[in-house]
Amino acid sequence: MLMIPGPTPVPEKVLLAMAKHPIGHRSSEFSQIIAETNAGLKWLFQTQNPVLALAASGTGTIEAAIINFLSAGDRVLVGNNGKFGERWAKIATAYGLEVQEITAEWGKPLNPDDFAEALEADTSKAIKAVIITHSETSTGVLNDLEAINKLVKAHGEALIIVDAVTSLGSYNIPVDEWGIDVIGSGSQKGFMLPPGLGFVAVGDRAWEAYKKATLPKFYLDLGTYRKSAEKDSTPFTPPVNLYFGMKVALEMMQAEGLESIFARHNRHKEATRAGMKALGLPLFAPDANASPAVTSVVPEGVGAKEICALMKKRFNIDLAGGQDHMKGKMFRMGHLGYVGDRDILCAISALEAVLSELGHQAPASGVAAVSERLQKG
Ligand SMILES: *Cc1c(COP(=O)(O)O)cnc(C)c1O
Repeated sequence: MLMIPGPTPVPEKVLLAMAKHPIGHRSSEFSQIIAETNAGLKWLFQTQNPVLALAASGTGTIEAAIINFLSAGDRVLVGNNGKFGERWAKIATAYGLEVQEITAEWGKPLNPDDFAEALEADTSKAIKAVIITHSETSTGVLNDLEAINKLVKAHGEALIIVDAVTSLGSYNIPVDEWGIDVIGSGSQKGFMLPPGLGFVAVGDRAWEAYKKATLPKFYLDLGTYRKSAEKDSTPFTPPVNLYFGMKVALEMMQAEGLESIFARHNRHKEATRAGMKALGLPLFAPDANASPAVTSVVPEGVGAKEICALMKKRFNIDLAGGQDHMKGKMFRMGHLGYVGDRDILCAISALEAVLSELGHQAPASGVAAVSERLQKG
């Protein structure tokens, strides 16, 4: 049982759809599948622009955003309050951009006022992009994308590039309505699919910037993906079996509806947090900025490593550990994608049993707290 923030569980229907011989990616049969999945992705991303699918992990989508819309020497503001924000600063630096970081301590959200200050001070409009991680998976913090995006819009020149890898499909991001310029995600997160595809949606302002951007690119040149997408095709050989699965996964998501999907993730976030609190496990992210995809816990008096190991040994439930300086101090429970009420109840009850076995005195019942929250719908 995968309760990590990616890869996430995959429905049997999707697995079975993929259990077939591949077909030719230039066949009309496959072209039909691309047409259907492209339409489904536009629906999921709430955009009229094509959502480009790359045979890459989530990181590939943000690298693509950096090299397609920017040039060496451009100034970029990068929000860094965890492992992923740090990664985008590293990539931008690797490509010779002038990186100005806006940081917050791990476990705290980025402060929109810090962006306001940096953007307002930039009267010469040297800042060409603001790169932020919406749901920072390493800490379980959800940054305030809506507020930061408004500040970027007020600046007028900078593009906003969003890592929505664990928020797309779990949280409402009206991409076109908000005018998000570039937004990336990955198949193994909120899409109920195995790893292997990165998705990136690009708005008109970013395509304008594309014309002037001079960083070298070939495999990740998004212009070629756009041209192909318009013809229900792909520039290179895509993971065709993943597309078979994606068609089914998107149909399942459309049957559930966006509002229900977001409500389910919110319910699971709140139920998980209620369960952890009842069990006396301190949460790393504040309630007001908690990720809908992953909950980070910093246990006291009982080891995070021991909890994860026993969850695996006793119940075959996978939890994720902490990264970098939080290694061994934190565990993270994913509740993203194909996750139901039963999974949350099951994971928290297993956790309750494991804590008891480790001699941890829980102040209250996690199961009771979770079921109470789930009952509210
Ligand atoms: C998983 C993840 C990524 C991408 O990781 P890949 O291993 O490249 O797919 C990027 N950002 C966030 C917030 C993530 O959770």
